[in-house]
Amino acid sequence: VCNFAAGPAVLPENVLLKAQSELYNWRGSGMSVMEMSHRGKEFSSIIQKAESDLRSLLEIPPEYAVLFLQGGATTQFAAVPLNLCRPDDPVDYLVTGSWGDKAFKEAQKYCKAKVVWSGKAEKYTKIPSFGDVEQDPDAKFLHICANETIHGVEFKNYPVPKNKSGLLVADMSSNFCSKPVDVSKFGVIYAGAQKNVGPSGVTIVIVRKDLIGNAQGITPVMLDYKIHADNASLYNTPPCYGIYMCGLVFEDLLEQGGLKEVEKKNKNKAELLYRTIDDSKGFYRCPVEASVRSLMNVPFTLEKSELEAEFIKEAAKEKMVQLKGHRSVGGMRASIYNAMPLAGVEKLVAFMRDFQARHA
Ligand code: PLP
Repeated sequence: VCNFAAGPAVLPENVLLKAQSELYNWRGSGMSVMEMSHRGKEFSSIIQKAESDLRSLLEIPPEYAVLFLQGGATTQFAAVPLNLCRPDDPVDYLVTGSWGDKAFKEAQKYCKAKVVWSGKAEKYTKIPSFGDVEQDPDAKFLHICANETIHGVEFKNYPVPKNKSGLLVADMSSNFCSKPVDVSKFGVIYAGAQKNVGPSGVTIVIVRKDLIGNAQGITPVMLDYKIHADNASLYNTPPCYGIYMCGLVFEDLLEQGGLKEVEKKNKNKAELLYRTIDDSKGFYRCPVEASVRSLMNVPFTLEKSELEAEFIKEAAKEKMVQLKGHRSVGGMRASIYNAMPLAGVEKLVAFMRDFQARHA
């Protein structure tokens, strides 16, 4: 099938086949990666290679630690404020969708979090011009969600934090490794793996090393960046198989020529889909302002909304699945992560044109 799910999502076929070929016996070890001690030499080589390949892909500077954690991006909504501020510290949240809003609400429990801008009144279809956002100079950090998975709104460039520490923090769950990123602009980047880089169960945190070691006293050990950094992500049993799968994806992305090449492919796919929507004379509509449309998650509606269920049903018959929009917004959503081939998007737009011809 062509799987347009928002996450867990499609993974590269060659990666899955490689994992299959090593499932019972990883490289002559006589063990599956699932059966290995996380402290043995085999798994050590797997996690070290995964980290080093991710560092190459994103050109992560040496002053940043890379952590492979659990708990999803949702756990980071709490871990970030717990690690970066005291309970009385103000922090700024720029809310461009439901995930940014969830991050803000969780942060309120651990610091004085404030929304400096929200796109809620406009149904999360925009990103403000940064000059219009009044930041608190005393804020410990400015938080953004780089790509809002549900609403399809993506930052194309990043706000400059105007707080004293100059810290920008980003949830990159749904556009992680989809394009190059200047990591040095961020204090913390975090992402659940299950969109672009692996199965669910792995959360990647890239954190500037000087920010580590200041966690609030109440911080559970599992949320303390220092514990994980000091133990090279092996304080407790990590999600070994998921990390192995992420490693295979990183290898594959490097073999594709790195993130510049990956971005070119993603732009091609997204342009084709948005063009089809925009050229449909209103039959299909994407509510998101054109300049901030996501390369990863493309929400769209039908002018005749009563046809949406039929659209989803017919698409599924043609083996295009998971096109239903998020339950909170309705309509349709095509998630076209790294591993969705151009042929999958071509098939979808051919179906869309045909559906329009039959129902316009
Ligand atoms: N942030 C974004 C942008 C997401 O898309 C998601 C999940 O879809 C989350 C956070 C929550 O991630 P998790 O389910 O890994 O906690």
